[in-house]
Amino acid sequence: MNRRLTLALPSKGRLREPSWTLLEASGVDPQEPGERVLQSHCRNADIDLLFVRADDVPEYVQDGVVDCGITGLDLIDERQCNVEVLLRLGFGKCSLQAAVPLEDDAVGIDDLKGRRIATSHPRITSSILAERGIDADVVRVGGAVEISPRLGLADAIVDLVSTGSTLRTNGLRSIGTLFESEAVLIGRRGSEDLVARNVLTMVLGSVTNARANRYLLCNVNKDRLAELTALLPTQGSPTVMDLATPGVVAVHALVPAADIWSLLPKLEACGASSILTLPVERMVP
Ligand code: AMP
Repeated sequence: MNRRLTLALPSKGRLREPSWTLLEASGVDPQEPGERVLQSHCRNADIDLLFVRADDVPEYVQDGVVDCGITGLDLIDERQCNVEVLLRLGFGKCSLQAAVPLEDDAVGIDDLKGRRIATSHPRITSSILAERGIDADVVRVGGAVEISPRLGLADAIVDLVSTGSTLRTNGLRSIGTLFESEAVLIGRRGSEDLVARNVLTMVLGSVTNARANRYLLCNVNKDRLAELTALLPTQGSPTVMDLATPGVVAVHALVPAADIWSLLPKLEACGASSILTLPVERMVP
């Protein structure tokens, strides 16, 4: 009998919704837990779900309470948990940045020497500053890190930033990035039963890969085919098919979603017509 895989998901906060959406998109059909219920399961796969705080996930995985979990890369480092990162999930992207009040004359992280720094990530902050030979006084604060300088609690802060609007609202200015984070799928190090875990990693990876790409279709005259295919930022070979109209071919290719905006005008200038881009549901390289 197959053993059921246990997966810890963030029960609230920023990572909850996108983690749930990813599971839904993967097709395992997670069952919505009832109110205040901490466990549920998936209808299409032998996976049991446990809902816990994102910052508790690394310890649950490390200690073998669950097989896998979804959490932020920053939380693994901050908790100093010995777990394996199985997959980067492409959401929850943010960076741990050092910031000072607008009027402060610091220009870079090195200027934090001798300063008092408030952060809810004291371990990562202390270890990165130590690696860079910067001796500073790191103070742990639980929340509302951004108001610490105004309260006279610290000269600078180190906090997670995604858009930078919270820093601006609080009269702060970034002076550098210490760490880049995103949501990740993690597993216990040294785990012996890897079959179900590898399947989950592959299936979630097929969705995250697909999200980062678009399926491109266009028609072009055969005499400009080489010019057009040279423009495509694809890794594999594009599919080229003859059309009913003599001398014209259809080109199909998978291209990174981030390149579409710059690619379209170039394709048009190369004589491409009937250009379509479609979302991709799954992609297993
Ligand atoms: P939570 O406290 O449950 O909302 O989750 C916080 C986690 O979400 C962090 O540890 C990061 O991994 C991630 N995250 C993504 N963007 C941000 C952001 N702008 N501020 C704080 N956390 C973020």
